[in-house]
Amino acid sequence: MMRIVLLGAPGSGKGTQAQRLQAKFNVPQVSSGDLLRDAVARKTALGLKAKAAMEAGQLVSDDIVLGLIRERLSQPDAQQGFILDGFPRNSDQAATLSKLLVEIGQPLQTVLLMDVRTKTLIERLAGRRVCKHCGKVFSVAALPDDMTCSKNLGGHELFQRADDKEEVIAKRLDVYQSQTKPLIDHYTKLGLLKVIKGEGTLDAITSRMETALALGKSSINASKKTTKKKSKAKTKSKSKNAGAKAIKKAAKKKPATKLKKVAVKKTSAQKKAKAKKPAVRPAKKQTRKPAKKAGRR
Ligand code: AMP
Repeated sequence: MMRIVLLGAPGSGKGTQAQRLQAKFNVPQVSSGDLLRDAVARKTALGLKAKAAMEAGQLVSDDIVLGLIRERLSQPDAQQGFILDGFPRNSDQAATLSKLLVEIGQPLQTVLLMDVRTKTLIERLAGRRVCKHCGKVFSVAALPDDMTCSKNLGGHELFQRADDKEEVIAKRLDVYQSQTKPLIDHYTKLGLLKVIKGEGTLDAITSRMETALALGKSSINASKKTTKKKSKAKTKSKSKNAGAKAIKKAAKKKPATKLKKVAVKKTSAQKKAKAKKPAVRPAKKQTRKPAKKAGRR
């Protein structure tokens, strides 16, 4: 059973990789962003409340997001596991999530942090185009010749998300730094955090994730190696408006600010937690159909 959180800045590939894991292991992707976009598109009361904050790159209020997540996790397909994508995004959400998971008897297995340089995040977000019909994500660097999505009979127009505009990207990266990044420490202390390099080919990233989750072929050896590696969790000094600065630099075509490299050391809390826990076993492949996506990217 897979019960994981994907943590990472906007543009770190959480959604793309969650979709790949979902397709491969039949575990539903639960994306707070997708749930919110769906509510906005359907013009529900929650959606109407969330819209302005989303367009400004701010976090939507906790009660709205928590309501959507609680409801989604109570659905039958999430009883056998879930891939949380974009949630939690601040300490209060993390605390409420642990309470909720204790209530439903589904504690978190692992939190995977997708580590991606700021320069790459900006390039990915600014260059992201999405199919209006199926939510498939494209990059401007590799757009189809006819500029439409060929999935599901094709011909569907691609668009740029309102919050992928440059001025909003800066805000979203700042919000990540100030509100979401502290969760790295939080989950490290709980012994749940694993860091994945989120750059390279999609296959290479998925394979690293599977190894970290002990799902891949070489998982046993790789996870042994990982536990031997002890590096220090460090966060370099950060400026409050790191996102805005990085965007400015990228626009001037100077080398962009590097994302704070996060090397994770096994803390004593992690060591204790590990000593108590049995090794993660490869998850059994499930046979039911992939869950229907609640929303679109
Ligand atoms: P995402 O698709 O995950 O980048 O989310 C898009 C936008 O939805 C974010 O910029 C926020 O405005 C909102 N959002 C998504 N997840 C959350 C969350 N967990 N808490 C608050 N706002 C969220």
